[in-house]
Amino acid sequence: QAKNAGKNTICFFDPALQEQIDHNLELSRGLRLALDYNQFFLEFQPQVNREGALVGAEALIRWCHPELGLIPPNRFIPVAEETGLIIPIGDWVLKNACKQLHIWKSHSKAKHLTLSINVSSRQFSQSNFVEQIKACLNQYEIDPKCLELELTESMLVKDQNDVITKMLELSKLGIQISLDDFGTGYSSLTYLKRMPIKQLKIDQSFVKDINMDLDSANLCDAIISLGHSLSLEVIAEGVETLDQFEYLAQRNCDLFQGYYFGKPSSADQLLKLIF
Ligand code: C2E
Ligand code: MG
Ligand code: MG
Ligand code: MG
Repeated sequence: QAKNAGKNTICFFDPALQEQIDHNLELSRGLRLALDYNQFFLEFQPQVNREGALVGAEALIRWCHPELGLIPPNRFIPVAEETGLIIPIGDWVLKNACKQLHIWKSHSKAKHLTLSINVSSRQFSQSNFVEQIKACLNQYEIDPKCLELELTESMLVKDQNDVITKMLELSKLGIQISLDDFGTGYSSLTYLKRMPIKQLKIDQSFVKDINMDLDSANLCDAIISLGHSLSLEVIAEGVETLDQFEYLAQRNCDLFQGYYFGKPSSADQLLKLIF
């Protein structure tokens, strides 16, 4: 039918699309209330070194909706971005991540742990983004070296001068920047030398097929070499099997995250890995 659709065709009713729109509307209504009703919580997924020792964690947001149950972030973060609700939600994540770091600081065995948080594009674009981070670090007496921000490549292409200015301010504070889902974006590689980035995070789609598909394995090799040649740390995400870990470890990948080492879980659960 599509090829007959000419200028006389005004509108198609797509029930699936309509359902999606209705659902997003419902989600955005719910999101407005979620903060007030304490429906968000954080889970923490371990990050380990080549010896398998815990070095840090990634904070991942969860939303427990009163009627719909647990809604995954891939479902509601895009809606939060669209509606602007990502700003208060992002603040909530930052604050709660810092609270957790403050608690870890008082455990002798946990005080070295780093915590990574995901920052979304609209949040990073806020003119007071760096100020907010500073304020939070002060409030919770956080060593900036323990906080890592995960950005994605797509965020780096928009307003490069603004991005670089913010990154320089952040890294002057001592905060570390990681490039999440590395290898799936569209941006050029020149930003890697222009921007103060500390870590590349190999996207899980490459890790997934490492032992089945030569292209994926080669891409992982290439990202590790690229990272190391620029003195960046490289972490692999989505490591689910011993085979994947062994392959990556043999290629000198520095850090690892994935179900093989631990699923996202409560902070208490995470600490059981060291105690
Ligand atoms: P991401 O930052 O790339 O996070 C990794 C995702 O992979 C997480 O999904 C994690 O649970 C999942 N994962 C970890 N290990 C494995 C594994 O071995 N196998 C498989 N199949 N999956 C694994 P999650 O928690 O559903 O989060 C999805 C995305 O939502 C995140 O991708 C991130 O982009 C976004 N997100 C999560 N929390 C936040 C947040 O606080 N703020 C923002 N802006 N975005 C967030
Ligand atoms: Mg780290
Ligand atoms: Mg991430
Ligand atoms: Mg990722």
